[in-house]
Amino acid sequence: MDDSALLQFSRQILLPEFGIAGQTRLSDGCVVIVGLGGLGSAAAMYLAAAGVGKLILLDDDVVDLSNLQRQIAHDVNHIGILKVFSARDRLLALNPSCEVVAQPVRFVAHQADAWLAEADLVLDCCDNFATRFALNQVCCSAQIPLVSGAALGWSGQVCVFLYQSGQACYRCLFADHPESAATCSEHGIMSPLVGVIGSLQALEALKVLAQVGDTLHSRLLLFDGLHQTWRTVQVSADPACPVCSAADSP
Ligand SMILES: [Zn+2]
Repeated sequence: MDDSALLQFSRQILLPEFGIAGQTRLSDGCVVIVGLGGLGSAAAMYLAAAGVGKLILLDDDVVDLSNLQRQIAHDVNHIGILKVFSARDRLLALNPSCEVVAQPVRFVAHQADAWLAEADLVLDCCDNFATRFALNQVCCSAQIPLVSGAALGWSGQVCVFLYQSGQACYRCLFADHPESAATCSEHGIMSPLVGVIGSLQALEALKVLAQVGDTLHSRLLLFDGLHQTWRTVQVSADPACPVCSAADSP
């Protein structure tokens, strides 16, 4: 690590739990971010700024004026541009030494191997259940930690899945595949909500990569922004889970 990097990341290197060892693990790390909307904007910007070595961005959507209220990696100059490209510009402006790979595609399980080959961790910042379940399945079988976030209206949630024996996976928590999931365009969302949840996803990802602290594995964090309440509930593995119980069996 050269003098410039030591200065750039000095405020977190100062943290005794983190230090040079933590920073080195970040710079050696590769994170795949699925979805560059509100959650992905906040999470990606903090991961780049904190010094994660490589970020792979997956999203097939373009920036729309109605996104700018909360998707802060994009701005008015990016309207009509693919989100992965506008986000890449913002991330490189924050940290030019971060390697940012923009993939203008929607995540699909059958192509996951190519995108996840280098991944040390995956961030689920998507907006639909089909992708969430697919990501969980792929990360479980590849044993890649997944940091899941979701936000709608005034509330949101975060959970970490490490896929270690006996720990719950996403499918253990959400056993029913909803036919029609609520969306921000139908139900609305308060602007900073995605910033809160996306920043928490970044924090959890940084701790997993740096191997420090206690993460939200086996715990689901629930945030209600309208009434300013935080709640953490223990989550248990479902012995009948079709995803992780199958992966556990010999
Ligand atoms: Zn499971």
